[in-house]
Amino acid sequence: MGEPLRPITDLSLDELRAVMRDLGQAEYRAEQVAGWVYRSTVTSFAEMSNIPKALREALAERFRYHALEERAALLSTDAETRKLVLSLPDGELIESVLMRYPQRPDGTGSERATVCVSTQVGCPVKCAFCATGLMGFSRNLSAGEILDQALYFLRWTREHPPIVRNVVFMGMGEPLLNYDATMSAVDRLVDTRCAGMGVHRMTVSTSGWLPGIERLIEDSLAVRLAVSLHAPNDELRTSLVPLNRRFPIPQLMETLHRYQRATGRRVTFEYTLLDGVNDSPALARELVSLLKGLDSHVNLIPMNPVSDLPFQPSPWPVVDEFHRILRDAGVICTVRREMGRDIKAACGQLRSELQKRERKSA
Ligand code: SF4
Repeated sequence: MGEPLRPITDLSLDELRAVMRDLGQAEYRAEQVAGWVYRSTVTSFAEMSNIPKALREALAERFRYHALEERAALLSTDAETRKLVLSLPDGELIESVLMRYPQRPDGTGSERATVCVSTQVGCPVKCAFCATGLMGFSRNLSAGEILDQALYFLRWTREHPPIVRNVVFMGMGEPLLNYDATMSAVDRLVDTRCAGMGVHRMTVSTSGWLPGIERLIEDSLAVRLAVSLHAPNDELRTSLVPLNRRFPIPQLMETLHRYQRATGRRVTFEYTLLDGVNDSPALARELVSLLKGLDSHVNLIPMNPVSDLPFQPSPWPVVDEFHRILRDAGVICTVRREMGRDIKAACGQLRSELQKRERKSA
């Protein structure tokens, strides 16, 4: 068996134009093909009705239309979270999640949908509370493999609205350790000749890989930045996010202040609340001090329990008190609604279960 074909979404528009030249076609065909791949619901080259048959066949011989194949899908009981395990051309498995937010009960706000995509198979960062961290690291995803997760749900939500408007790079993996592929995926998601989504609707999440934040300072793509903080001091953070040993909090905060001065963009902090670990009022006050002077937004996340890990979610009164302390001190802060706990929505959990089941039945 030869090498698997490259997904068409791995190609930039310039590379697609070069393919057209090689095939003796006019360059404008590249944008026509991109229109089908990025903005339609068709799922094969054969369905591209304005492309000559010979060109469709030549493309199908050289490229895969999809980088991904669905291996398992779960819908939460409230039908707001849809989680997929997807297999890559080499058989590796990743997860992607669609989260749908209905209108508020008082009728304000609007329905919206966000897709959370993976950027690596496994993750080298090994955060203590994360199912993906338990798997270790296999490889980086290509730009097409990242993009195709968003396109999968874009197609699906065109038939099951609301349509996906936001993409968070917050699934399996540390996106800034796979910077080039992640930003190529963003580039094609926001390019109006490709998916044409809003750049301010792209959020890249990092556990604190500072060389990546430095690159974001220089990058022309104005994505939003989210930092998985989870603790306001070095001792606690190093025990939860081992990368903190290499890039401790003072260095992280100095880089974020510089990022904000250069870009003018607000920084989001993700803070997963773990029962009895990082949820005390004293730590909430320490967090308030840490964030002074930075335009930030704190997202408090009730933990999704993982069976092989010794952490539990904080009880709601503790979450409320933590939230109150931040809010009263003037910190912009929200509590993320628990989504998909019944379908194991924390990253890595569904893939691990599927692999366990497959090993048992082998
Ligand atoms: S929380 Fe994110 S960075 Fe940490 S191990 Fe999990 S996937 Fe990696």
